[in-house]
Amino acid sequence: MKIWIKKAVLGVSAVVALVILLDRGCVFYHLTGIPCLGCGLTRSYLAAMRFDFGEAFRMHPLWPVTVPVLLWAVWKDGVFFNDRRQNLVFTLLLGLVYIGVYLIRMWLLFPDTPPMQFYDGALIPALYQRLSDIF
Ligand SMILES: [Zn+2]
Repeated sequence: MKIWIKKAVLGVSAVVALVILLDRGCVFYHLTGIPCLGCGLTRSYLAAMRFDFGEAFRMHPLWPVTVPVLLWAVWKDGVFFNDRRQNLVFTLLLGLVYIGVYLIRMWLLFPDTPPMQFYDGALIPALYQRLSDIF
């Protein structure tokens, strides 16, 4: 479990770093046209670095939590509490918070308010549109 979490965090971090380095944005978003759980995080951190905290929270309300939790997870092998049950409950609650915030953001902002915009030029919507034109 610990190694699995560490590998998952490192994998996600590597993908995020690669995306930032390539300046292509979110892979999930460019594939599906739908924002992912983390969409807006990069923009929120960029806004926070400009001390524009209102914009940072608007881009992603969980920005102050995300990096510290990821760093802690990597540093402590996914162990937030010594008690295994507390650790599991904390991890599940954290996941539920991220999913809940995502659903609320989708409900309030999707499909036309940044960062929760629909991208019809993404691979899957574009393919769907071309196939719809043919058939
Ligand atoms: Zn995303």
